[in-house]
Amino acid sequence: MQFPNVRFLLSVANQQQFPQDPGREVAFAGRSNAGKSSAINSILQRNGLARTSKTPGRTRLLNFFEIEAGQRIVDLPGYGYATAPPPERKQWTELINSLPRREFFKGLFLIIDIRRGIKVEDGQLIEWALASGWQVHLLLAKCDKLNQRDRSVALKEAQEVLPEGVTVQLFSAHNGIGIEPAQKRLLEMLRS
Ligand code: GDP
Repeated sequence: MQFPNVRFLLSVANQQQFPQDPGREVAFAGRSNAGKSSAINSILQRNGLARTSKTPGRTRLLNFFEIEAGQRIVDLPGYGYATAPPPERKQWTELINSLPRREFFKGLFLIIDIRRGIKVEDGQLIEWALASGWQVHLLLAKCDKLNQRDRSVALKEAQEVLPEGVTVQLFSAHNGIGIEPAQKRLLEMLRS
């Protein structure tokens, strides 16, 4: 097993609650329903580790998972929730804005539904992550929904619009496409 010691660490609502012990962290982000929880679970080989919660209150939290001592992933709340009440949205914005100052963050895995493509919000997040000095990797998720030809077209289109240095791959939690390369890229970021 690639990640034998994975465990849920904690959920945080503000930056004061972030883990203090030194380490390297990779954040997972994406529009809600893009397939982020499924991607985390299949990359870390644990069913039900990252839970889908459609309750806005719960989804405002950041969830930390430990892969090994000093290696963590951080599940960011899905964006694109137009329904979250303003105070909650403010809290989430503050929390997210505090991330670039966190020296432990090394990279971002951005999960995109391959059928939707890269939207303005995704692009903003990519720019923001690059400006913060993070590595960025895109998963074109749910690629099982497209045939071989359309997958290749979507991959090529993404490669053409992404800024230099950003990597991208096809991914499907349902039929296992791209799990291994995603694990490799994650470890690369955690060890860089
Ligand atoms: P999240 O909101 O981004 O965490 O997304 P989830 O992982 O909860 O997935 C949202 C929906 O997409 C669920 O109904 C999943 O079953 C479905 N889904 C997730 N990954 C895949 C995939 O690789 N292929 C297909 N066909 N559906 C998926």
